Parts: sequence; structure tokens; C-alpha cells
Amino acid sequence: MPDRSLGVSDSTPWPAGIDHSPRRVGIFGGTFDPPHVGHLVTAVNVLHEVDLDVVLLMVNNVPWQKDGTRDITPAEDRFAMVAAAVEQVPGLQPGHHEIELGGASYTADTLGVLADEFPDAELFTIVGDDAAAGLATWERHEEVVARSRLVVVDRPGEPVSLDDEIDWIRVEVPRLEVSSTDLRARFTDGRPLDYLVTNPVLRVIEARGLYGVAGDGDGDGDGDDEVGAPVGAPPSQSVVSS
Ligand code: ATP
Ligand code: MG
Repeated sequence: MPDRSLGVSDSTPWPAGIDHSPRRVGIFGGTFDPPHVGHLVTAVNVLHEVDLDVVLLMVNNVPWQKDGTRDITPAEDRFAMVAAAVEQVPGLQPGHHEIELGGASYTADTLGVLADEFPDAELFTIVGDDAAAGLATWERHEEVVARSRLVVVDRPGEPVSLDDEIDWIRVEVPRLEVSSTDLRARFTDGRPLDYLVTNPVLRVIEARGLYGVAGDGDGDGDGDDEVGAPVGAPPSQSVVSS
């Protein structure tokens, strides 16, 4: 488990014992309910293309845009899934800052915390086209733009174009038509999740019994659960192909 109070400094993507204060920090915020390959492919490609030292997959505490529209998985469960998703991936780290801040999560606040944590770093806010299209509705969006450079990545659909006055860049990433909404529907229907979600994430889902998946009750996430038995799904179905 990373040291949440210090963000990236506990389980860092760098060898221990050397000063590796990140200079270029990407913040990729989301509900991650659940995190999927679209998120991961985006994060690693932006890390590479923008030459970032780290990308923080920042788990929203209360996603204000989604609040009240559906049941949202508890924030600590979503954080556990994101932590599992990035555990073996150099340069990607789970972000716990918004959960610590509590309440509704606003990127402007998060950037303020990160600016204190990494005073010498340049900050990059990474968003998909759909999220970028709603930028004007974000709480204190001027602050977001002032404190960070926006990195917009492709999502299937019409590419968004932002105001010339805004400091933003577009990064091409493989377009993967995957969404958490579709994945939640797959859990409900018993359709396969293989290759859309990584196995470490599926193990957290089983261990914690998320999305109606019945685990074996030992809660150890070791993958020996009676996996892939979403409520109402045929008993033979498996969500983990290990
Ligand atoms: P939901 O369907 O519940 O809205 P989601 O798949 O859109 O989930 P979010 O957690 O809402 O995921 O998204 C977090 C960020 O990831 C947003 O900036 C969003 O644009 C981006 N994103 C999500 N899915 C993809 C994808 N397949 N490719 C690129 N970016 C993505
Ligand atoms: Mg979304």
C-alpha cells in the first residue's frame, strides 16, 4: 500500500536512495469504477509522449458530475482497484489525494495540493475528449488551466478543440472503445471482461465482492475465489483467465 500522505514518494517508480523529485507530473483523474485498459493505455502513452516522470491516476472521492446519477463504488474500493492496476507499471501511481481532501473532488483543489507537494514540478492535467468537452463546467476551471497544462487524449467520437488561449496539447493514443459504464453492464449481464480489465483488478473485485461478483469469502484476493459469478450470471462463467 503506498504512503498516501506523500502521494508518490513511498512506492516510487524510481530506484530507492536517490533524489528523484518528479519534475513533470501528470494527473489523470477519474472515478475509475472500475479502472480499465482504456485508462491504462492512455496513462502509459501520455507518460511516454509527454516525457512525464509520473502519471498519478487520481481517484475522485465524490465525482460531482456523477453524484446522484447512480450508485458509485466506495472511494477506497476504487482506490484499491487502481492501486492493483498500476502496481507493476513503472511511472504510474495511484493518487489518494482527493480521497484525503474529502467531499466533492475538484481538480483545481487537487492541483493546489500537488503544487505544494511538488513545488518544482510542472503539472499536466490529462483528460479524455469527453471530459475536455465539459471543461467550462468544471469548478474554477480557470485555476486548472493556470496551474497546469491540459493534455487531451482521443476517445472514440468527435475530437474536441479547446480555446487558443488555453495551454493545451493533444496526444494521440490508441483509441479503445472501453468505458467503465460498459464494464459495469458486463458484470450485471455476465458478459466476459477478459482483456478489458487486468487480472489484478479482477482479483480486487473478487476479494471485495464488488459489482455483484461473488468471491470465495476468504477476501485474500489470491484468485482462488469462485470467480466470475456475477449475480444472475450462469455459474460456469469465469471473469479471470489466469
Ligand atoms: P464511466 O463510463 O463510468 O464514465 P469512464 O470509462 O468514462 O467511466 P472515467 O473514470 O469517467 O472512466 O474517466 C476518467 C478519465 O479517463 C476521463 O478523462 C476519461 O475521458 C478518460 N477515459 C475513460 N475511458 C477512456 C478510454 N477508453 N480512452 C481514453 N480515455 C478514457
Ligand atoms: Mg466517464
